[in-house]
Amino acid sequence: MRIEQDIKLDFKDVLIRPKRSTLTSRSEVDISRDFVFLHSQRKYRGIPIIAANMDTTGTFDMARALAGHQLSVALHKYYSEDELLDYFSGLTTPAVSFYSMGITAPDYEKFQRVKEGAGAAIEYVCVDVANGYTKAFVGFIHKLRTAYPDITLMAGNVVTGEMTEELILDGVDIVKVGIGPGSVCTTRRMSGVGYPQLSAIIECADAAHGLHGLICADGGCTSPGDLAKAFGAGADFVMLGGMLAGHDECGSEVVEQNGVLKMRFYGMSSREAMEKYAGGVAEYRAAEGKDILLDYRGPVENTVQEILGGVRSACTYVGARKLKELSKRTTFIRVTQQLNEIFGPQ
Ligand code: 5GP
Repeated sequence: MRIEQDIKLDFKDVLIRPKRSTLTSRSEVDISRDFVFLHSQRKYRGIPIIAANMDTTGTFDMARALAGHQLSVALHKYYSEDELLDYFSGLTTPAVSFYSMGITAPDYEKFQRVKEGAGAAIEYVCVDVANGYTKAFVGFIHKLRTAYPDITLMAGNVVTGEMTEELILDGVDIVKVGIGPGSVCTTRRMSGVGYPQLSAIIECADAAHGLHGLICADGGCTSPGDLAKAFGAGADFVMLGGMLAGHDECGSEVVEQNGVLKMRFYGMSSREAMEKYAGGVAEYRAAEGKDILLDYRGPVENTVQEILGGVRSACTYVGARKLKELSKRTTFIRVTQQLNEIFGPQ
């Protein structure tokens, strides 16, 4: 056993310090990014925010709504082959939609068939496992990259610099970072495993950028300020579940509770999701996600404006004319720890 004594931080533990600036208005801030991906060598331009590949947020409707704002979606993996083929072959806008999959043989075979049918329309692929530290995951990445050299590959999840480096060397363009921070995730409570998300982003971004790779900060953002902190910490992309849930585009049913309209949102490893897609929770494991009712929030449009407005505002406060400059201009101030020292745990 070993204890690491370095302080690790979450979004709530810091604030971004304001800096002198020549910007006069938020409208002067450009929050889109341009990237050339390390392995696929393809170009990207857009606002680097991605709806999570959960069956409530990674929907076709969400993809269409977000494309209008240059945001992306990682489609959930439960769509049928026909639905995916229809969607990808009908893509008219230059929307960035990730095809998502796990690492089982049926996942791979389904991808092969859909890719064969959709061809170049599938440019972005997301390989998503709860634990990106297994040999099987790395082996799968090798196989996929060898077979499809020109796809832009996002994969994870991991939380440490050395695993980020390994994945980038193995062929991943965007490493997905986050174990346990999700709003409907119970991994930390059920298994005791996890890593404070802000520190994970800082450490993985540093590792990735040293090899010209990128990272996507996945999970734990509960407000536009958290996205600003994620980008400030070095995230190239940010993935959102809960913040985009509860909208018309999520496809869940709207229910009434004590006169308030609500929408269901659940983790993809929750009992509810496993019952829906896998016929229940297998005997040897426990659910690691929860099922909650969120206030129904109508179309996603207003929420998107709020998120983009918050990120623009952060850029203005630190004098970043472009989102790209935000991390260079970010100084984090630790807050919770200081309060804890003065007042005891909050
Ligand atoms: P959020 O933005 O809601 O905080 O986090 C979204 C992320 O939570 C997803 O992209 C995914 O990585 C993670 N997630 C989704 N469902 C589950 C689950 O059931 N268990 C765990 N451990 N993580 C989940």
